[in-house]
Amino acid sequence: MKVGVLALQGCVEPHLKMLARVGAEAISVRRPAQLEQLDRIILPGGESTTMLLLMEKVQLGPALREFGKTHPVWGICAGSILIAQEVCDPAQSSLNLIPIRARRNFYGSQTDSFKTPLQTDLLKSPIEVDFIRAPLLEPLSRDITVHASHQGHAVLLQRGRILASSFHVELGEDSRLHEYFLNLES
Ligand code: GLN
Repeated sequence: MKVGVLALQGCVEPHLKMLARVGAEAISVRRPAQLEQLDRIILPGGESTTMLLLMEKVQLGPALREFGKTHPVWGICAGSILIAQEVCDPAQSSLNLIPIRARRNFYGSQTDSFKTPLQTDLLKSPIEVDFIRAPLLEPLSRDITVHASHQGHAVLLQRGRILASSFHVELGEDSRLHEYFLNLES
């Protein structure tokens, strides 16, 4: 299984390590041609506006949009903003791979970051996750499955092969959500 991690900016290394630990071949992605060899891709947390600008420079946007039509994509925090249908606070363009609205920085600034155990129907016991300048992810369609909520807000959402989480989950040792992503069907 070859799994890409978009590596233009942001929290890339911990994903590469975690993917290697669960037996996947993890590849840093910086060019459109690299997508051809991948089974799926993670768009990590970081700064979505910066990632968007860098994506435009190397024309990764259209290639990622096409890739997401036939392969699993997991957008994490800034990555979830990149794959959302709509982005606000402030608005910016996106890949529109899943019908959600991302309200940026809903969970406050860097100093408001927090770690919390999260219950999800995908796992038998809670998983530790990190909210770091996280967006609010609002479903815009009934065919979105919400796998986890925090204080009444959806934080882990899926439609088909596309997964979006407002939180980071690569900073600890628990790789169960990565394993779930690796098992998603194309
Ligand atoms: N606030 C960032 C953005 O809007 C996302 C933060 C993160 O990925 N941890 O892109």
